[in-house]
Amino acid sequence: MGIFGWHKLVHAAVVSYLQVALDVPLQRTFDYLWAGPAPTVGSRVVVPFGKQTLAGVVVAVSAELDPARGLTVAQLKASQAVLDDMPPLPADILALCKFCSDYYAWPLGQVIAAALPGALRQPQPWQGGQALQFWQALDVTALLGQLSPRAHKQRAVAEALAVPRSIEQVRAVAHDGGRWLKEWIAAGWVVEAVPQADTAPPQASAHPDLTACQASAVARLNAAQGYQPFLLYGVTGSGKTEVYLREIEARLAHGGQVLVLVPEINLTPQLEARFRLRFPHEHIVALHSGLADGERTRNWLLAAQGRARIVLGTRLAVFTPLPHLALIVVDEEHDQSYRQQEGFRYSARDVAVYRARQAQVPIVLGSATPAIESWRNMREGRYTLLTLGQRAVTGAKPPQMTLISTQQQRLFDGLTQTAINTLRDCLDAGQQALVFINRRGYSPVLACHECGWIASCKRCDARLVLHREDRRLRCHHCGWESPPPAQCPDCGNADLQPLGFGTQRLEETLTGLFPDTPPLRIDRDNTRRKGSLDAMLQQVHAGEARLLVGTQMLAKGHDFAGLSLVVVVNADAGLFSTDFRAQERLFAQLLQVAGRAGRAGLPGRVLIQTRYHDDPFYPQLMSGDYAAFADRVLQERKANDLPPYSAWAMLRAESKTLMRAVTYLREAVQLLRTQPGIHAGAPIPALMMRKANQERAQVLVSSSSRPALQSAMRFLMGELLQKKAPGVRWYIDIDPSEA
Ligand code: ADP
Ligand code: ZN
Ligand code: ZN
Repeated sequence: MGIFGWHKLVHAAVVSYLQVALDVPLQRTFDYLWAGPAPTVGSRVVVPFGKQTLAGVVVAVSAELDPARGLTVAQLKASQAVLDDMPPLPADILALCKFCSDYYAWPLGQVIAAALPGALRQPQPWQGGQALQFWQALDVTALLGQLSPRAHKQRAVAEALAVPRSIEQVRAVAHDGGRWLKEWIAAGWVVEAVPQADTAPPQASAHPDLTACQASAVARLNAAQGYQPFLLYGVTGSGKTEVYLREIEARLAHGGQVLVLVPEINLTPQLEARFRLRFPHEHIVALHSGLADGERTRNWLLAAQGRARIVLGTRLAVFTPLPHLALIVVDEEHDQSYRQQEGFRYSARDVAVYRARQAQVPIVLGSATPAIESWRNMREGRYTLLTLGQRAVTGAKPPQMTLISTQQQRLFDGLTQTAINTLRDCLDAGQQALVFINRRGYSPVLACHECGWIASCKRCDARLVLHREDRRLRCHHCGWESPPPAQCPDCGNADLQPLGFGTQRLEETLTGLFPDTPPLRIDRDNTRRKGSLDAMLQQVHAGEARLLVGTQMLAKGHDFAGLSLVVVVNADAGLFSTDFRAQERLFAQLLQVAGRAGRAGLPGRVLIQTRYHDDPFYPQLMSGDYAAFADRVLQERKANDLPPYSAWAMLRAESKTLMRAVTYLREAVQLLRTQPGIHAGAPIPALMMRKANQERAQVLVSSSSRPALQSAMRFLMGELLQKKAPGVRWYIDIDPSEA
């Protein structure tokens, strides 16, 4: 990689023809001339595009204009520059982007742009790259002998180059240092060098003796050659991380690089610290959206050059070039955060599996509650199961779980008397309690709290979704809709409410009940500001806040030593959500949140309020038997032809009026009618119908054949990109995580 700028367009005899992928919403690449020797495929170029100047990536180069492109030389514009601020994107990453473009029906140029750090999407060379390279004089004495005895500044620079220096460090010695350095490099006096760490690395942490389960898992991972996917299924605290660390160590010893994906790096700084302690001599880089652009770009380049051997990142890191990739780890592989929900929508876990196969390396998907998709792959023999059955630390007991039937007890603003009493005892004893509410992600279902009736579609046996904005019940499968009934059709009760109703007022209720220990609410809404979550957690750790009200955000990764009680108030909303993934998520969340209680010696208790205590979900939850639960869910999905047994895509549209969005979707459904092997449903309003002044609607497209769905959606994308639809925004969501 050169460090001194870019190659300017020159009038040379050599001309190359470039196909360039641009970050524009069009399903094609663009042709440009380059008056100069052919750049490597994967290079970054700057090109004119209409009135704009854009950065793009070269995806093909030829010495002659391919007649199949249907263009004449006179029609082509010239590329303005070929940038050398990054190594060209390697063929495997380009192929990965191509796969994603096809699979997720998203323009290739936009996929490639998403794979690059922000600074490398700009139509200017990235300057910060100079800090990556270090230079050293081969022989300082000989170099000094070349210099005038009176050139003090030059001599100072030469002396500084006795050890590896970055260009920034050289410039700090003398203003003109960069120019001299360039001359000396050209003359061969100075060469690129690797700096030694200038601080003594911390003492490597000791390796604990592996448990028998861990040892057997590590042995099987060690033996893996080429592509082999593993599902590491281990209860929380069973030592999955230790298994990753051992296997990483083994792969590094053979000169490899490893990619470790975590759901939310901000919630797991402990993991990074743990890695640094274990591998003090390794160059570890983090890649996540919380990093400044410069740092992220630097880390990305260090990985791409093979210099950083451990990459710890969130979903976006899955596209990092890694020339010596030897292992991929996806921790908490079931986590929703692996899905990108904006722009180019993808599942980083699924992309990681594809990448492991492409690179012919093993991949470990770790979880206490694996995704149903992964479970199926394991059950059907595509993934190898590794089980860690017990907690690694002896003596740590799982918390005691109790169901409270709200059929027998009235609710006071969402809480039963038993829950209130238990909370009081816990707080009186000076301990901490968490009231867990699951607000997000569940579509509301109308129910009778007297007899348990739940509003269902008469046409397709699915539960109806209550759209609060216009108070309509809608079937998200067939589009049938009606106003809610005035009373329960089974028992006549006139007070029908959505499941989970009442939790909005919970915070107030708790304040009234426990005036001496005011509740501290921790959720996404009040932790958006940087540092606010840390400040709140600090309050919790210091014991200043003893009554916590939290959402799923609190369920992950945190250790609260004084927490001995968790009360789950609206489990039923998850149990009967119309989203077929709701139960799977609920199980994972409840196990996670239960794991918060009683971590430090105090016996933990978990109370779950439910009206449906005889649902088979609960015995499986109580016994912590995720395997039995997952097997049952798989059978149900198969019987009902739901994912992963059927492939789904969602076309979503938004506009100023609902009518406009729905009309647009109807036209799209017409286009889909020409496509074989798929079923397109009716356009229905989205659950959150209005967002940012836009009305939103959606169409579900499904197929028993993945290739049929993929080709239909690619066709649809091509058609829709051509079509003018002023005022409508649309996008395609493959394997949607929310229905
Ligand atoms: P998981 O990732 O499965 O939740 P961790 O790897 O974080 O579990 O391990 C949980 C705890 O058990 C950690 O404190 C870890 O240091 C400890 N631990 C893991 N393996 C062992 C072992 N073999 N012997 C003793 N302690 C262990
Ligand atoms: Zn009823
Ligand atoms: Zn229906």
